[in-house]
Amino acid sequence: MTVSNFAELGLTERLLRALKEAQYTTPTPIQQRGIPLLLQGMDLLGIAQTGTGKTAAFTLPLLHNLDEDGVQLKPKMVRALILAPTRELALQISDSIKTYGRHMGLRHTVVMGGVGHRPQIDALRRGVDILVATPGRLLDHIAQGRIDLRQCEYLILDEADRMFDMGFIRDVRKIVALLPDERQTLLFSATMPGEVAKLANEILYEPVRVEIAAKTVAVESIEQRVHHMEKAEKRDFLAKLLQTRELEKVIVFTRTKRGADQVVKRLSKEGVNAQALHGNKSQSQRQRALDAFRSGRLRVLVATDLAARGLDVDDISHVINYELPNEPESYVHRIGRTARAGADGIAISLCDNSERQQLRAIEKLLKRSLDVVGEAPIDPMPKSGKKHNNGASRTVPKSRKRRRPRQQRYEQRAA
Ligand code: AMP
Repeated sequence: MTVSNFAELGLTERLLRALKEAQYTTPTPIQQRGIPLLLQGMDLLGIAQTGTGKTAAFTLPLLHNLDEDGVQLKPKMVRALILAPTRELALQISDSIKTYGRHMGLRHTVVMGGVGHRPQIDALRRGVDILVATPGRLLDHIAQGRIDLRQCEYLILDEADRMFDMGFIRDVRKIVALLPDERQTLLFSATMPGEVAKLANEILYEPVRVEIAAKTVAVESIEQRVHHMEKAEKRDFLAKLLQTRELEKVIVFTRTKRGADQVVKRLSKEGVNAQALHGNKSQSQRQRALDAFRSGRLRVLVATDLAARGLDVDDISHVINYELPNEPESYVHRIGRTARAGADGIAISLCDNSERQQLRAIEKLLKRSLDVVGEAPIDPMPKSGKKHNNGASRTVPKSRKRRRPRQQRYEQRAA
């Protein structure tokens, strides 16, 4: 059954008004399938990644239910808890609550690491309807006796696989143990590794499972290119690439925080303004960089996978993989930053010899080869009798095999 508007899902008029103002007209598949079940109070296992509309899928029925329950807040009380692995995701969820809940009088707040304790403590003192939290900081507040979860009847775990990657699963278990058994629980995860499935099994009660296939269509609409080069060539290549105007709004991915800082430094020497987004930056630095990037004041953001996970920024024209990720799934997450909301995007990967394995794993996952631009890879150990053996001819379209001088390629691209 296809639901063509939000009213058919049974949401209260106050939410419908906010959705109209946010110019949402049609529910996404996860919203169509999830919202009616959640309004009935069922537990849910959602296998979906960012970009599917999952935040609204859980926030809308939560707001609806809390509004209907009409429970009076008491000091330190939390009626609903949303756990997120990163501060950026926590803030995005909080923004969604603000947008959708604007015609309701529900109180919500965020507690997360990297920002001062004081405002968080003040907000908690009076009690909140919805608390959005990262696990570590939440446990700090719980240890200090500032939060009472005994009446918390709604629990949502977002990006559970990321929580697992970041080592939060133990913290999550500790937190869940403080909630009443009688509650509605939702768990969202882009992938289902064994540990996450185990956790889901422990905390969900007869859940319905809603699985939204990875954004294969969107990924297919992204133009994906790979440039093979020596590691030492990458810096200059990137700087030149970013001087091309058509790269309007760009995320550059590195594998490490240090790598991100080095890229930013190098680019600034070349006159390209960029800022880094990673876990060693303070919360205010991260927020400033993100705000500047969102608004278009900053053209180039250099990020690690973890920092960029769940980022919701529109109009990203290019994703550049300065280094290929170790996990092929991260490649899909990275390039999914471009081509949001149905727009086409371009993903450019710089691949050195040491990354050929990762490239192969990515191509296997995508079931396709990336387009090799310019120089075809040269086998580090050419076979005797041949000057260069093209080590990855499998990935090289015939028309692109011929090597052209680099300068010529830039000129052609810029033209
Ligand atoms: P999410 O998957 O929750 O990160 O959402 C991705 C983006 O889609 C966010 O910018 C939402 O504001 C937007 N969005 C979610 N649901 C809808 C909808 N039904 N119509 C239009 N935009 C939506």
